[in-house]
Amino acid sequence: MPRDITTVSIGIDLGGSKILTGLVDSQGKILVSDERPTPAKKGPEAVIKGILDSIHNVLEDGCIHISKVGAVGIGAAGISNPQTGTVFTSPHLPRWRDIPLRDILEEKLGKKVFLMNDANAAALGEFYFGAARGARNFIYVTLSTGIGGGIVIDGKLYTGAIGAAGEVGHMTIDDNGPVCCCGNRGCWEGLASGTAVAEQAKRRIKEGTATSILRYAGGRMEKVTAEIIHKAAQRGDSLARELIGRTGYYVGVGLANLINIFNPELIVIGGGLSNIGDMLLQPAFKVARQRAYEQAFQAVRFASAELGRNSGMLGAAAYALQETEKHGRA
Ligand SMILES: [Zn+2]
Repeated sequence: MPRDITTVSIGIDLGGSKILTGLVDSQGKILVSDERPTPAKKGPEAVIKGILDSIHNVLEDGCIHISKVGAVGIGAAGISNPQTGTVFTSPHLPRWRDIPLRDILEEKLGKKVFLMNDANAAALGEFYFGAARGARNFIYVTLSTGIGGGIVIDGKLYTGAIGAAGEVGHMTIDDNGPVCCCGNRGCWEGLASGTAVAEQAKRRIKEGTATSILRYAGGRMEKVTAEIIHKAAQRGDSLARELIGRTGYYVGVGLANLINIFNPELIVIGGGLSNIGDMLLQPAFKVARQRAYEQAFQAVRFASAELGRNSGMLGAAAYALQETEKHGRA
C-alpha cells in the first residue's frame, strides 16, 4: 500500500492518570508521542484542554499540520457511546457526565474524531498489531488497578446497544463480595484486580497476620500495591503467596464465565497485574479449566498482550483511520 502522508493518524488514550497521544502510521508505527498526567480532579474542561495540548504537541514534534492527518481516534476511560460520541460517566474522571467529547474535539480540531472506551481501543490495538492478529473471535482482558475488556466477534468489535459492551470487570462473581466503584457488589474487578489484592493485604496486615509485605512497602500502608505484594511473594512471604493465589482463583472464575458465554478462540491478557505471570495465571487457568465447558476450554488459547501501554493509543488510531477510509475522508 503506498504510504502518503494522510495514512498517519492520531491515537489518544485518555486514562484517569495519564493522557497518551501518538502520531501513528498505518502499520502501527508510533512516529511521535506525548504523555502527560490527566488533570482529572480539575474536571472535564481541564482534561479536554490537556488532550488538545497533547495533540498539538504531537503535531508540532511530528512537523505535520492537522489537515494532513488521516483521522483522530480516542479511547476514553469509562462508559461511552461510539455512535453519539458521548462519554456517559467515568469512575476515574470525576464530574464527567454526558460529555460530548467527540463533538468538542471535532470542533476544535476541524477533523473527524472517533470515540470509544479505552479497553475496547486496547483490544483493537492487539487485534490490528499485537497478540490477536488474525483472530476472528477473541476477548481482551486487562488486569490492572481495575479490570477492563474488549470483545471481538467475527472480526468486529462488539459494542452493544449503547456502546457499553465489554465491561467484563463488572460482572458479578460474588453477590456478597466487596462494594465496587460502579456501585455493585462482588464485581470481578473487586476480587481479581491489583486494587483488590492490595486491599486484601492491607486488611490482613491490620488484622495482625504475620507478613513482610509492609516492610517491602517501606512500612507505609498506602504504599502496599500488587507490585509490592508480588515482590514479597517472590521472596517466599506466605501471606503474599496466598493472596496472589486467591486473586488468580478469581481471575479464573471470570475467565470460565467468558469462555462459556463467548466460546472465544483466543483470550489476550494484558495489564500490569498480569506481569506477575505464572504465580497468578497458573491458578487462574486451572480454575477456568475446572469451571468452563471442557470443549470450550480446549478450544481457547491464551496469549499475553504484546503492545503494553501503547495498545489503546494504537487501537484508537488504527480504528479511526480504517473508519475514515471506509466512509471517505473528513
Ligand atoms: Zn463494578
